[in-house]
Amino acid sequence: MTVLVTGGAGYIGSHMVWKLLDEGEDVVVVDRLSTGFEWAIPAEAELVVGDIADQDLVESTMKRRDVDAVIHFAGSIIVPESVADPLGYYLNNTVKSRALIESAVRAGVPHFIFSSTAAVYGSNDGAPVVEEAPTLPESPYGTSKLMTELMLRDAAAAHPFAYTALRYFNVCGADPKGRTGQSTRGATHLIKVACETATAKRPFMEIFGTDYPTPDGTCIRDYIHVWDLAEAHLLALRRLRAGGTSLIANCGYGTGYSVLQVIDAVRRVVGHDLDVRISGRRPGDPASIVANSERAQREFGWRPKLDDLDTIVTHALRWEEALKRRNS
Ligand code: UDP
Repeated sequence: MTVLVTGGAGYIGSHMVWKLLDEGEDVVVVDRLSTGFEWAIPAEAELVVGDIADQDLVESTMKRRDVDAVIHFAGSIIVPESVADPLGYYLNNTVKSRALIESAVRAGVPHFIFSSTAAVYGSNDGAPVVEEAPTLPESPYGTSKLMTELMLRDAAAAHPFAYTALRYFNVCGADPKGRTGQSTRGATHLIKVACETATAKRPFMEIFGTDYPTPDGTCIRDYIHVWDLAEAHLLALRRLRAGGTSLIANCGYGTGYSVLQVIDAVRRVVGHDLDVRISGRRPGDPASIVANSERAQREFGWRPKLDDLDTIVTHALRWEEALKRRNS
């Protein structure tokens, strides 16, 4: 029995591969290495370099390795890029996922875990979001992920196949053991940008908007440690293997931090000030998004262990230093 991880050379995927190996699982990665890094994949996992929509390659891999579960991370993830190139996002995230789901059905793979996103929800009043909240994505990125959730729903109704779609909130941090982290170049995410500023990879950073209706005027997000997120996938996998039915579950901590609170944590952990400049609002940023993740806790016993901002920042900073050494 082997777990097939798509996008295993990427940020969240590489953490998943380490987590599975730590648990004694056999792993095969399918990744075309467009944004991921071969060095991010541990030697104990087989790497098949190729496209998730290459059905001959994927189905022969599933059969050859006796795959019983797919964990699907491969895809494009930059919201503004999806606005500029919606058809590219529908191709990468929706059309290729359709091919992958079909391959799983054809090869008789019974379990499928999908990397979905809080971007499937519309804006709300800042109250913790439950899974039943209306799905009104505000970007092609969110829509492309929601369409894949719908394909999974219908495929699971028609075929002997069950899925779990995990809707991630703001994923950050790095492997506590320092084996992998977020390595993507040109990253735009707040904690990554703040850590790049703290390690002098960029001279300054900006805060996008200080006039939001929040206590300090900056946006509030639910930052989830990538290792806790990988743990959620592992538990979801165990639940499916134990006969669990298809499920959609949020992955966040239910606690929100403002942009200023995050930057303060980085200052605190690194022990020096950062050059932070106030800038205007970034288009499309909702004031506040926080998860209600009771379902993940109830359905597969997820218990966050690294839900502390200073811990997240410590791990993210440590990885940023390691990357600096690797690239110098
Ligand atoms: N943000 C910021 N400066 C940056 C990057 C992000 O002020 O350099 C803000 C952004 O406007 C948002 C929050 O940080 O309010 C989280 O943004 P991020 O891109 O990390 O994740 P998102 O919530 O957009 O998926």
